[in-house]
Amino acid sequence: MLDVVIIGSGPAGLSAAVYSKRANLNVLVVEKVYFGTGQIAESHQVDNYLGLPGINGYELGEKFREHALKLGVEFKDGEAEHFEIYEGGWKVHLQSGEILETRTVIYAAGAIHRHLGIAGEQEYAGKGVSYCATCDGAFYRGRRTAVIGGGDTALDDALFLSDICSKVYLVHRRTEFRGSASTVEMLRAKENVEFVLEEKPSSIMGTDMVEKLLLEDGRNLDVDGIFIAVGMVPMTTSVKDVVELDQNGYIVADETGKTSADGFFVAGDVRTKGLRQVVTAVSDGANAAVSAEHYIRQM
Ligand code: NAP
Repeated sequence: MLDVVIIGSGPAGLSAAVYSKRANLNVLVVEKVYFGTGQIAESHQVDNYLGLPGINGYELGEKFREHALKLGVEFKDGEAEHFEIYEGGWKVHLQSGEILETRTVIYAAGAIHRHLGIAGEQEYAGKGVSYCATCDGAFYRGRRTAVIGGGDTALDDALFLSDICSKVYLVHRRTEFRGSASTVEMLRAKENVEFVLEEKPSSIMGTDMVEKLLLEDGRNLDVDGIFIAVGMVPMTTSVKDVVELDQNGYIVADETGKTSADGFFVAGDVRTKGLRQVVTAVSDGANAAVSAEHYIRQM
């Protein structure tokens, strides 16, 4: 039997793995097909992780992974479908049919991109509609793009694209931004960035590829690419029957990572919290691992 099964290999999951391994626990990290260390791999530049200013997100994630591998942490490809409590621990049912038995679970599955749900969004996904400027921005060199959203992701995306594209429209439904004021200032200083505020997209049109973003006031923006950055949806479908979730679907827990279920801990963006950043994910992972260790010692 394992001591800790960690679901997810983003910064929270890897930090939990490092702390668990160093506490001499028998730990396994379950991850979906690997293509970089969680959401952070999509960040062109991370400028607020202490000690590593300006580091590329993918590179930072790889450093986390190398650290875990160096300590001998083991990884398994798989997707947890549901969790079952039983005397002595948890059974983790994987989509493949395999069942892992473990004393504790640390759930660090993160969150995925929210969709706008407007006409054309699905049809043009991958044909001009993208949810990752770092991944797809280079395809729009010298072209016209729009970024939707007013959080840090949208602002960072707009800044990144402003160095590549001829024109960047930043479309946000309010006049105040949720994201960093300093990035807003940098964007205001860019000649090729146009703020389109108090405005919502209504549909996306084109032929083979995106050609226009239609706005609710009837205006059209001629664009080749649309980057949608309107927040995240927590990955909690597989846990909704075993732990308490808040009204937005996040797993309810304080910084100890203790959930409503004994032996089931949570870390990272999928937890209820005020600040979702790499640094808080890493800190969550450490806390959840220590909580799991205490729980196992008391068993
Ligand atoms: P977010 O902070 O939740 O912002 C989502 C934005 O999308 C908000 O401005 C929201 O508008 C807008 N929005 C939501 N639904 C919409 C809809 N249906 N139509 C139009 N607009 C809609 O999400 P995020 O930017 O992805 O950031 C998530 C977390 O990661 C945050 O804590 C953020 O600070 C962090 N992050 C940090 C960095 C960094 O530090 N470099 C980079 C990326 C992300 P309203 O404002 O009107 O609600």
